[in-house]
Amino acid sequence: MIKPEIVSILKNKIQTIERSDSANILVGPITLPVNLDGETVTFKWYSWLHLTNEERTGLAGEELTEKLIGRLAGMKLADSQQSSVLVYGDFEHADTALIRMHSICHTGDIFGSKRCDCGYQLHQSMKMIVENGSGALFYLANHEGRGIGLFSKAMAYLLQEEGYDTVEANLELGFEDDSRSYADAISVLQRLRSKPVTLITNNPKKLKALKAAGMNAVKRVPLWGDVSVFNEKYLRTKVSRSGHLGAQDGEILPGIMAR
Ligand SMILES: [Zn+2]
Repeated sequence: MIKPEIVSILKNKIQTIERSDSANILVGPITLPVNLDGETVTFKWYSWLHLTNEERTGLAGEELTEKLIGRLAGMKLADSQQSSVLVYGDFEHADTALIRMHSICHTGDIFGSKRCDCGYQLHQSMKMIVENGSGALFYLANHEGRGIGLFSKAMAYLLQEEGYDTVEANLELGFEDDSRSYADAISVLQRLRSKPVTLITNNPKKLKALKAAGMNAVKRVPLWGDVSVFNEKYLRTKVSRSGHLGAQDGEILPGIMAR
């Protein structure tokens, strides 16, 4: 049994977002001061847990939080990835808000790998959100390797070393090129803000797909940078095969499309 005083600390910071066949349990906000280029910036951090209706049997009503906390210890959650959202400013009410839907990249975000531009995009989008005064960075933990997982991404990298591009490598391993779903993140976004948002992405298809999935996004701002010999092919593939806009569309992708 979880003690009542523990439940009372957590009760108002845990909410359920109902979906048709499942629910997202959102915890937060938690104050998170972050070192952004030497400056301390305070975000509000949330994390969420996706539970199928089966997993949440008996978790309903008034005692939800108590029952949920009581059950978590037995669920081995550390073995499954859970996503985050970092919220900045008066996200609910601000007139403009920037959104980044960032797919986790273990190698790029954590180790600073230059095989992709993820680490740069993560850092840069946090700065853009802060400069804008309001926004949210969604960090999507089940999106590793465009949804194929870290182990499979390692295999895809081995194929890429033999000349396969990002798309071909995923397909050769029997995966779809891109199996990421944004439904969870959109349901969390809808809970935190109903006014329109601007999406940080180089991919107009992503804006379109997110709109179709119910996201209230009105426009897009691009984010290119940190181009090097290590990720040039990766970035070129994004432009030539995955619908990302490049320099020919007036966007800045230095050196990539010029050759
Ligand atoms: Zn990456």
